Amino acid sequence: MEKFDTIVLYPSPGMGHLISMVELGKLILTHHPSFSIIIFITNAPYNTGSTAAYINRVSETTPSILFHHLPTISLPLDSTIESPHLETLVFKLLHLNNPNIHQALQTISQSSTIRSFIIDFFCYPSLDVAHNLNIPTYYFFTSGAAVLSVFFYLPTLHKTTTKSFKDLEANLEIPGLPTIPPSDMIKPTLDRTDEAYTGFLETTISLPRSQGIIVNSFESLEPRPIKAISDGLCVPDAPTPPVYYIGPLIASTNDGRMSTGGDKSECLKWLDSQPSRSVVFLCFGSLGLFSATQLKEIAVGLEKSCQRFLWVVRSPPTEDKTKRFLAPPEPNLVVLLPDGFLDRTRDRGLVVKSWAPQVAVLSHKSVGGFVTHCGWNSVLEAVCAGVPMVAWPLYAEQRLNKPVLVEDMKLALPMEESEGGLVSAVEVEKRVSELMDDSDEAGRAIRERVMVMSEAAKVAMSEGGSSRRALDELVESWKLGNLTVHPVGL
Ligand code: UDP
Repeated sequence: MEKFDTIVLYPSPGMGHLISMVELGKLILTHHPSFSIIIFITNAPYNTGSTAAYINRVSETTPSILFHHLPTISLPLDSTIESPHLETLVFKLLHLNNPNIHQALQTISQSSTIRSFIIDFFCYPSLDVAHNLNIPTYYFFTSGAAVLSVFFYLPTLHKTTTKSFKDLEANLEIPGLPTIPPSDMIKPTLDRTDEAYTGFLETTISLPRSQGIIVNSFESLEPRPIKAISDGLCVPDAPTPPVYYIGPLIASTNDGRMSTGGDKSECLKWLDSQPSRSVVFLCFGSLGLFSATQLKEIAVGLEKSCQRFLWVVRSPPTEDKTKRFLAPPEPNLVVLLPDGFLDRTRDRGLVVKSWAPQVAVLSHKSVGGFVTHCGWNSVLEAVCAGVPMVAWPLYAEQRLNKPVLVEDMKLALPMEESEGGLVSAVEVEKRVSELMDDSDEAGRAIRERVMVMSEAAKVAMSEGGSSRRALDELVESWKLGNLTVHPVGL
């Protein structure tokens, strides 16, 4: 019996991770249609964004991508979870998934040749499962090269001190990055006694044991960290595995529209009636939440800026420990926003509850600026749409992305926190005005630069471009079927 050549993709649950993995599957199919693509789906008991609606939509628009739903794993979200970080749950879940992964890979192997198993970096526990089955395994890195430099370098940083990043005083010098304060490190790695830190450290140690790392970025966007990685500076005591920069991969607007889980075309209709590039869009990823106090500061700042805005608002985080990883309820805007705010800004602002079709919004002609939490998909979506940003990091690796976006790439203005982490209304007003005001020097520089990068993104993805060449090289290595399994511990 002739066997299909199959690529199996294993995203970690969560919108940002799933979307770019699906786009990777589509990219492979577009340029190398002889492969079949199977994507593993893990049901998570925590908030993952509107993934179910999104998967349904992709199944309709791209039936050649097959989704394989893995058996549900029981993971109680009770008070036994000490760590405040969602990432701890993600690592736990993906460890428990190993028997399911083994079973599914074995079953698929009976009818197909698995040319490559591509795993999200959170899925590192499955690396040895795949190696034991002699399946070449690659990581798919859903953040950029700058954060990959940090991942590669974490085992080295770990050896240089016994302290947690949160207790370090000296700034960190990481190859390929601007100098950063230790407090800007990936949030769940700040405390090395936290379980999440161990998960990240083990992941970073396992990276060089894969066949290669596929990165959702492109060469001209991140020349500095890409050079540091290729010069071997980030993995000083072992060979750096091959790294393939194949991006930018961003969600198609079709899939995004349905991923809202409802008819949110209201905001696109509203944008249709606004002047060109006049609206600032504020949206903070699939998980970004603000306290009630912070929401009020944003509202006051937006109102004072006199700019047009489209703002996605969610309910503040819950105090209930057992509910902290679940999706928040729909926000009550009248209670959360200042008295009369919605009425006073009716002519120039729209507040959307919980979720907006971001890719479609960013590519709308009326949108001229984006206040973002610096999630990597959001950054790439803004770059592709040519929309300049204000960087306001909240969780995960976003504090690292901010100096990279502001200092290295020069695609964003910084949103500065006051003592205690609050961003004042004055700061919101100031940054939004700089971003949107045509006469502002700082804003103009980043507006021009983002247009250049938007063109560079198209070039990278086109025939002969750097990302296309990287994809072809990667696919060539699958066809050769090389499998060098590196031993545990580098
Ligand atoms: N997103 C969206 N609408 C929202 C919030 C998020 O469509 O209201 C999408 C966004 O376009 C992006 C993804 O969800 O593709 C979020 O990924 P990102 O890496 O930016 O952040 P994460 O959610 O992983 O922190």
